[in-house]
Amino acid sequence: MKSLIVQLENRKGIPLDLNFECEAGKVLALVGPSGSGKSTILRSIAGLFKTERGFIKCHDQVWFKSDQRIFVAPQQRHVGIVFQNYALFPHLNVRKNIEIGMDATCVSSLEDLLSMVNLQGLENRMPSTLSGGQQQRVALARALAREPKVLLLDEPFSAVDQVTRRKLRLELLELIRKLNIPIILVTHDLDEAAMLGDRLCVLHNGTGLQTGTPDDVLRAPATAVVARLMDIRNLFEGELVDQDQEKNTSVILWEDIKFEAPFQRQIQKGSKINWSIPADKVLLHRRVNPSRGVRENPVSGQIIELVTISGISNVIIALDSDQRVKLHMDLPPHVVERNALKVGEKISVSLLKDALHLMDYSHSSSR
Ligand code: ADP
Ligand code: MG
Repeated sequence: MKSLIVQLENRKGIPLDLNFECEAGKVLALVGPSGSGKSTILRSIAGLFKTERGFIKCHDQVWFKSDQRIFVAPQQRHVGIVFQNYALFPHLNVRKNIEIGMDATCVSSLEDLLSMVNLQGLENRMPSTLSGGQQQRVALARALAREPKVLLLDEPFSAVDQVTRRKLRLELLELIRKLNIPIILVTHDLDEAAMLGDRLCVLHNGTGLQTGTPDDVLRAPATAVVARLMDIRNLFEGELVDQDQEKNTSVILWEDIKFEAPFQRQIQKGSKINWSIPADKVLLHRRVNPSRGVRENPVSGQIIELVTISGISNVIIALDSDQRVKLHMDLPPHVVERNALKVGEKISVSLLKDALHLMDYSHSSSR
């Protein structure tokens, strides 16, 4: 199996403690706030930074194995990197910028590379005359010139405006699907990570806290810290007051409400917990024609905010009169319209049992 395996540990200087694997043809997104070590991890894979301990294997080649003192030089790793600011040479035209990435071992021709990234006809232009998206494609063509064994992308969209970003993500997705190599994408943009990553590795202070599909991480964050890093809006504290494995049920006391969640073996009865529910798993009780699920963990409150952004209506419901306990619900705008939802209205919702996720409270604060 062609894949990239990365295990890194560093205690002095820049702290790192993580491991992940990425298969050929797949994208692993390293996601974490600025300063969490993302660029350092890419530099370690490229051989530009050496951690105290670790193991890096690409396909069947070991690039780094600290306990056997194996450290393959950067130029022998054949890694393609697109740097955050693209690092194009401003005084060289597109052709020359790409040719710098090519060498005698290069299999693809300049024409192949230009057409792969849709830059035909622009080979004589200078970088300053190109749009952000075009510059990115030049950097990508240069990174792909030597038929790299892995492709590393460091915040590839941070230099372009919001509108271009959407378009470029789709273009990049189309291009990278054709490359049969592992791709590591670094980003602090959660939407980008979820959209482009087949899997995510969530980082905090250099530590890999959770690796999984975007869906897994968003629905079942390992800890409250991961939930906060992933910007999960419905994250609360509560207490596990009862559980029944046969009925696959945990009973949670939250504020003064009791409701049911799936059974969770690891958490003891009587423990304090964190729990989360994705905003799109909060079910609105239709006012006109009540339907399924209305008896499932019902709660009611008052709408205190209702904003529609890019085709999703974000509704905030206050469950108490001093608006301390707030629940987020995402709805399609037509549902908001049909149910005549407005700020100030009282509504009832259900917290769907299967979407509720419990976390051990002892992992609730960051280090
Ligand atoms: P990210 O890419 O996630 O923003 P970096 O990998 O650039 O994070 O940085 C991780 C940490 O290492 C930060 O605290 C940063 O200040 C520090 N750091 C980055 N580069 C160096 C360096 N060359 N020397 C010392 N510290 C560095
Ligand atoms: Mg960085």
